[in-house]
Amino acid sequence: MDRFRGFFIALSLVSAAFPAPAFAWGPDGHHTVGAIADKLIAGSNAATEASAILGGLTLQQAAVWADCAKGVDPTKDYAYTSAGQYPECAIYETPAGEAEMSDFVRRNDTNCARKPTEESCHKQYHYTDVAMQRNRYAAGSTGTRDDDIVAVVAAATHVLNGEPAPLPFSIKDKREALLLLTHYVGDIHQPLHVGAIYLDAQGKPVDPDSTGYDPATDTRGGNQIIIVSANVNYRGQNLHHTWDEIPATMTVSHVDSAWLAQARAVKRSRGALYDWPAIWATETLAQARLAFNGLKFGPKGGTDWTTSLPVSYGSTMSSIKKKQLTKAGARLAQLLHGLWP
Ligand SMILES: [Zn+2]
Repeated sequence: MDRFRGFFIALSLVSAAFPAPAFAWGPDGHHTVGAIADKLIAGSNAATEASAILGGLTLQQAAVWADCAKGVDPTKDYAYTSAGQYPECAIYETPAGEAEMSDFVRRNDTNCARKPTEESCHKQYHYTDVAMQRNRYAAGSTGTRDDDIVAVVAAATHVLNGEPAPLPFSIKDKREALLLLTHYVGDIHQPLHVGAIYLDAQGKPVDPDSTGYDPATDTRGGNQIIIVSANVNYRGQNLHHTWDEIPATMTVSHVDSAWLAQARAVKRSRGALYDWPAIWATETLAQARLAFNGLKFGPKGGTDWTTSLPVSYGSTMSSIKKKQLTKAGARLAQLLHGLWP
């Protein structure tokens, strides 16, 4: 299932009025994560190294590249076909920039253990689907893959440390690794990119690790859960999308000294750098549980379920988003400091 395209299908059924594309966190969220990290590493050895590797791009700019690369179409000989559609991608829409995205997608399209119904490998790197009943991320449980968001953050870190990318990833150099890392550290903090709810035909949650995985229960990260009624402005959207969007108060211009102080207070994770993504995913999973808390779901109709959000859901979401964006920015900076002390 193509989450990216799936969103547009769902959207076109309900309304043509929503402006935002389905970029995970949305470009605004990724820009904010990058901006926080840019400010936290400013003046350090990590900032010098990162800037040299990225050819002068900021982390804020780099943070959307992995989503921009989704504009490459494997059925059109890996041509980039989204020019002009996403303003945040404009900096990559040069002949050299498009060739770079095309090359990445060509190497990361069919390299994973991809089933015929599954989307391009690189599009799957952005998430994992751990059942919300689990209390931690553990490789091998339902929804995890050797090419999921946890694995790819570690893989990009290996490349930045001068080691080869573990299979199945193809990350050609440090520049590509850092372009990817700045994005994926954002995604691994988006609750619905890590924690998943699996629902039966009646809309009752099931535990796929107990009952066995049934594709019919897979909500595709909440992309197949449509909000039918709410006192907030989410009607007609899918649940995943409401979590990708961030409020205007959390965009880059609001990254001020108070917010940076919160980011500086985020504790460095324990263990080796390569162990951090699983630790972060476990924390994000707990946030996903909060995201599903109190939600009731209607029976499955076609491919989708329905839900209505509690009145207080908007404020719950905002506080979780702020916390997660802060952690993502802080941890991206911590990882870069760890690589280049
Ligand atoms: Zn993403």
